[in-house]
Amino acid sequence: MTDLPDRQFGFRTRALHAGARPEPETGARAVPIFQTSSYVFEDPESAAAYFNLQEYGNTYSRIMNPTVAAFEERIANLEGGVGGVAFASGLAAQSATFFTLLSPGDHVVASRALYGGSITQLKHLFKKLSVELTFVDPDDPDEWDSATTEQTRLFFGETIGNPGGNVMDIERIAEVAHRHSIPLVMDNTFATPYLCRPIEWGADIVIHSATKFLGGHGTSIGGVVIDSGDFDWSNGKFAVIAEPSDAYHGLAFHETFGMYGFLMKLRSETLRDLGGCMSPFNAFLFLQGIETLPLRMDRHVSNALGIANWLDARSDVVSVSHPALHYRENAALLEKYLPNGAGAVFCFELEGGRSAGQNFIRKVQLFSHLANVGDAKSLIIHPASTTHRQLNNDELQAAGIAPGTIRLSIGIEDIDDLQWDLEQAFA
Ligand SMILES: *Cc1c(COP(=O)(O)O)cnc(C)c1O
Repeated sequence: MTDLPDRQFGFRTRALHAGARPEPETGARAVPIFQTSSYVFEDPESAAAYFNLQEYGNTYSRIMNPTVAAFEERIANLEGGVGGVAFASGLAAQSATFFTLLSPGDHVVASRALYGGSITQLKHLFKKLSVELTFVDPDDPDEWDSATTEQTRLFFGETIGNPGGNVMDIERIAEVAHRHSIPLVMDNTFATPYLCRPIEWGADIVIHSATKFLGGHGTSIGGVVIDSGDFDWSNGKFAVIAEPSDAYHGLAFHETFGMYGFLMKLRSETLRDLGGCMSPFNAFLFLQGIETLPLRMDRHVSNALGIANWLDARSDVVSVSHPALHYRENAALLEKYLPNGAGAVFCFELEGGRSAGQNFIRKVQLFSHLANVGDAKSLIIHPASTTHRQLNNDELQAAGIAPGTIRLSIGIEDIDDLQWDLEQAFA
C-alpha cells in the first residue's frame, strides 16, 4: 500500500496496511510466510542483473525475502524513512550499522544511558576493531559537541534511555551531529514510531529491536535499520559508502544508489557478509504485532504512568525513573518528543539495596521475572544481578542503576491487578 494522490493515510491505517497488499497469485489477504531459501531465476541474464544490483530481485533469503520485505517496508513507512533492512536481532541490526559506517581508528560518541547489551557491544566488540568511544550525558547537547573529534563518524543514543528514563533532545543533538557532518543514529526501541519518529526531528538512521513492542508478544527476536535518505554520504567523511567498494567489484554505493546508498551497502555487503538475517516466520509475527501497535501502546503508556505515580507516592520507594517524573521540571521536552506518552519501561529503587531487590522479585506473582521488555504481559527484573551484570559499580552508577533498582515493563493487563501484585510484594 502506498499513499494515494488525494489521500495521506494516518498512522493507524499504515500500521495495518503499509508494505503489504493481497498476494496477487492467490489473493491471500494476510502477508504469506515465504518460507524459501532461494528463488528460481528466469534466465542467466536476469540472474546476472540481480547479482550486479542492476535490477532489484530476490536471489537468496539471507539478503532478501518477500515476507521480510513487507515488514521492512511497513516499519520504514511508519518511521518516515526511505527504506529499511531487517536483521536477526536488534543487536545484529546495530552491529551491521556500525560495521557499515565505521573503520578502524574511527570514533563514536554515544549516550551513557544505553541498553546494557549496546554498552557492551560498543565498549568491547568495537574496541577490538579499534573503534574509539566516548560516552556522554544524553541530556547535555554540549557534551556531545565537545566529545566530537576529527575521527568521530557517528552519534548514537536512545529516544527513551534504559533504565534512567532520559529522553534525548533529538533535534538539538542532530544539529550538533550535522554541524560535524556526521549522522545521528537513534535506537527507537522503547518509543516505537507510534510515540516518537526521530527522523522527523533530524535523526538520520533509526534502529529497532523488533523483539520488544513491535512484536509485542514476547515471541520472536528481530531487529531493523531505517534510513531517512537525507544524509549526504559524499561529504568527505564516508569513503566507506562514497568510494568504489572492493567488496562489491568496485561499486560506488552512494553514486549509484543516491539516497539508498547506505541501505544498499548495508544489505548487499554487510548483511551478506555478517549473515544475521531475519527469518520470514519472525517477519510474519512482527507484521501481526505492528497491526495492533497503536492500540497496545496507548494501554502500555497509561498503565505505566499510573503505576509510576502510584510508586512515587510510596514512602518505601526511594525514586522512580519514569520520564514523566524524571522531566517534571522540563515537561516541554516530553510534550515535544513524546506527546502520546513516554513508553512503558521504567525503574524504581527500593530501600534496602541488592537483597531487597532480589526479595521483591521473589514475591511478585503476576509480573513475569525475565529479561525482556515490551511484551503485552507485565515484566520485572533486577538489573544489577541480570541485564547490567557485566557493568562494574562505576558503570552501573553512570547508567543510573542502584543495587536496589527494579525495572518494570508494564503490560496491558487491568491496572488494578498490577497494583495488587506490587502491593503484596511490598507487604
Ligand atoms: C533489547 C534491546 C536491544 C537489543 O535487541 P535484541 O533484539 O535483544 O538483540 C537494543 N536496544 C534496546 C533499547 C533494547 O531494549
